Amino acid sequence: MGLLEMKTAVITGGAQGIGLAIAKAFVTEGARVVIADLDGAAADAAAKDIGPDAAVGVACDVAKADDVRRVIETAVTSFGSLDVVVNNAGITRDATMRTMTEEQFDQVIAVHLKGCWNGTRLAALRMREQKSGAIVNISSLSGKVGMAGQTNYSAAKAGIVGLTKAAAKELAHHGVRVNAIQPGLIRTAMTEAMPQTAWDQKMAEIPMGRAGEPSEVASVALFYASELSSYMTGTVAEVTGGRFM
Ligand code: NAP
Repeated sequence: MGLLEMKTAVITGGAQGIGLAIAKAFVTEGARVVIADLDGAAADAAAKDIGPDAAVGVACDVAKADDVRRVIETAVTSFGSLDVVVNNAGITRDATMRTMTEEQFDQVIAVHLKGCWNGTRLAALRMREQKSGAIVNISSLSGKVGMAGQTNYSAAKAGIVGLTKAAAKELAHHGVRVNAIQPGLIRTAMTEAMPQTAWDQKMAEIPMGRAGEPSEVASVALFYASELSSYMTGTVAEVTGGRFM
């Protein structure tokens, strides 16, 4: 019996990277997943690759409430329930404050913070009625320590921690748990675009001496999504190889 047998999960930004690893880990444990991504064709391809009986892909911009509503409806119509939501979609628009445009600031806040709020509040509407559910929000170590060149991203990722705790307090008595994960340096398209010098500098800060793999974030998401963490809400797990502990 898998840890997520008969459960339906929505994973935003699930067409690649950490989100895709989470989708695969959930399906391995018996879940059906809806992969929601800005790139609808990529979401579709990822779902086909996972298997048509277990996954559906949907185009979605998490910053738009109507898109997120449609994804939740897809989960219910395709698989009959909504048990887990992982708010994972993300972008970076790095620049120092001197050069960052207002648009770059707004874009990052919209995708991460408003996207996470949309996913949390709209999932909660349904989960509170059924008196069960698990919401997992993907923050970042940047939201714990603040990173130069990321005033937009660090603000959004710290905001996700506040949102997670406030939502956890609102939803605990409805049987809905809300937790967050702060990954450190994880090997994905988002970090592989980084210049080698920046990569080397980050590596030097990691006590375990290596970058993390998407599957190592996925296993913590699985823990939060499943009954293994049944008495945990409003918590933040660092998946960082010990960086900035
Ligand atoms: P990634 O490989 O770039 O994947 C992010 C996914 O989110 C992409 O498929 C992207 O679609 C999608 N997306 C972007 N904007 C969206 C929107 N408005 N609505 C729906 N989907 C959208 O990144 P990743 O490294 O896997 O990161 C996943 C999450 O982990 C992000 O929240 C990120 O901030 C967080 N994180 C990552 C690291 C790391 O080291 N990688 C560390 C800490 C936290 P498109 O490709 O079509 O844009």
